[in-house]
Amino acid sequence: MSVTKKRIWIISIFPEIFTPFLESGVAGQTFNGARGINFEVSAIQLRDYCSKDYKGVDATPYGGGQGMVMRADILKNALIEGVVIPGKYGDDYRAKLHIIYTGPRGRVWDNDYCKEFALTHWGESDSKDLVFICGRYEGIDERFLENYVDETISIGDYVLTGGEIAVMTVLDSAVRFTPGALGNSGSAEFDSFNDLLLEHPQYTRPREFEGKEPPSILLSGNHAKIDEFRHKEKLRVTRDHRADLYHIYSEQENE
Ligand code: SAM
Repeated sequence: MSVTKKRIWIISIFPEIFTPFLESGVAGQTFNGARGINFEVSAIQLRDYCSKDYKGVDATPYGGGQGMVMRADILKNALIEGVVIPGKYGDDYRAKLHIIYTGPRGRVWDNDYCKEFALTHWGESDSKDLVFICGRYEGIDERFLENYVDETISIGDYVLTGGEIAVMTVLDSAVRFTPGALGNSGSAEFDSFNDLLLEHPQYTRPREFEGKEPPSILLSGNHAKIDEFRHKEKLRVTRDHRADLYHIYSEQENE
């Protein structure tokens, strides 16, 4: 699996939120192409696509009720003028773009979904570029969701004030499953959740901290014993912190 060229477009009323994310750490370096992986991310300002006749990107909901709703026509303008035209996707742009909305109604993001997403969208077989639509206010006019959105992702059963953090969550976690993104390409597979278990505790210098030393086995140099110890610790940590996962893991082991 490798990325040949993947453009990622983000439509938001706060595109500046993505600047520090795209300039920092592993995700920033990867999405900036600094790790030799050909991503290109463009966060565009939805407000730039209001025509001069429009007062804004939002309007009051038909039927009354609290808050404002993002207008379908302005979102479509942003999609066409901010993504399709500059990206040269042409009239069949729907076949070349995968359009994602992050919202509470979506499939809930977890490690399996994250791996599946990375495999699908960062893989060689997928030539579609991605467009993320970030909702704000009370959300987005249903007609835009029906007509343009291919996939909806929720990052959990709670309500954010906007979709930007959800988009960063999706990108930040999925990029870890991109070959070459992490220094040690195997390291994502040893992290929490991959075998249903949480990670074992980690220790580093100083050797003594407030009277506590790391478990002596970790200083022994005996790698077989260390692996055995760490596996037991993974079981203990999962049982203590996530009894639900431990239960599923135990049932699978007993099958
Ligand atoms: N009125 C909406 C509701 O009750 O479902 C909530 C709108 S929320 C204040 C504004 C935006 O935040 C949404 O349009 C969506 O893009 C984003 N958002 C909120 N919760 C989210 C979640 N759990 N996962 C992903 N995006 C979320």
